[in-house]
Amino acid sequence: MVTRRAECSCGQLSATCAGEPVRISVCHCLDCKRRTGSAFSYNVRFAEADVTIDGRALQFTRTGEQGGQITYSFCPDCGTTVHYRIDTQPGLTAIPAGTFADPSFPPPFQSFYHRSRRCEWVEITAKPLTKFG
Ligand SMILES: [Zn+2]
Ligand SMILES: [Zn+2]
Repeated sequence: MVTRRAECSCGQLSATCAGEPVRISVCHCLDCKRRTGSAFSYNVRFAEADVTIDGRALQFTRTGEQGGQITYSFCPDCGTTVHYRIDTQPGLTAIPAGTFADPSFPPPFQSFYHRSRRCEWVEITAKPLTKFG
């Protein structure tokens, strides 16, 4: 079984993930632009039991555009978010895919807020989810 390791910029906080993610997506929402400092976020979900977290983290909780509560865990030393939970998706741990620092990581197959929030110059081949605009 493949094992992948996500970690923060300074390496203090990590998440080791066994097997393949259950979902790989990008999100163009405004909160994801702020969280990442980028045009969109690129995230994966693993079953909680397949993820081993090591290191110290601080939490920040925000309310998503659809009303869910999202709690981000980030390194107190360097600020990188390494894992997060969404209360409407129990049993799953989300990991920002960039923290694997792996150019061969599988591509996204869902695109959230594809029509309403995507920067015009961003070309994504993943399936737009119309429910999320
Ligand atoms: Zn760090
Ligand atoms: Zn988002």
